[in-house]
Amino acid sequence: MGLSDFIPKDDQTRITEAITMAEKRTSGEICVHVTPKCRGDVMEAAEKKFNKLGLYKTERRNGVLIYVAYKSKKFAILGDQGINDVVPDDYWHDEKETLGKYLSQGKPADGLCEVVSQIGDALAAYFPPVDNDVDELSNEVSFSDDDDE
Ligand code: CA
Ligand code: CA
Repeated sequence: MGLSDFIPKDDQTRITEAITMAEKRTSGEICVHVTPKCRGDVMEAAEKKFNKLGLYKTERRNGVLIYVAYKSKKFAILGDQGINDVVPDDYWHDEKETLGKYLSQGKPADGLCEVVSQIGDALAAYFPPVDNDVDELSNEVSFSDDDDE
């Protein structure tokens, strides 16, 4: 079981490109994590992964994690402290709706690309691009076999 069972290689590349494009519009960092199963609360699992992947390490605390447990049909979008301090509580509402729609249609890659782009736009309003931007977190899709391990 690997990421390619859920998202083919070409689509993984597409998602990475979408992240790269989105990060040109903002100093924020967007990460996508995919796992088959999430047995418990998806927000808790996403928070754990957020820390494990080091998303809290960005200079402006403006990392966003899109977490998808595809077999469990659960997902979460989680922003770091710097974002939560400035945006309203339901800030990711549209993005969640979009992603949920695509996932239920069995189009995870299309959904992730679309949502990554939307998040880039949303982040740009509060975190515009900076000179000498650093890619603080990898744009590759991250994967784990079992997040409950
Ligand atoms: Ca960056
Ligand atoms: Ca990045």
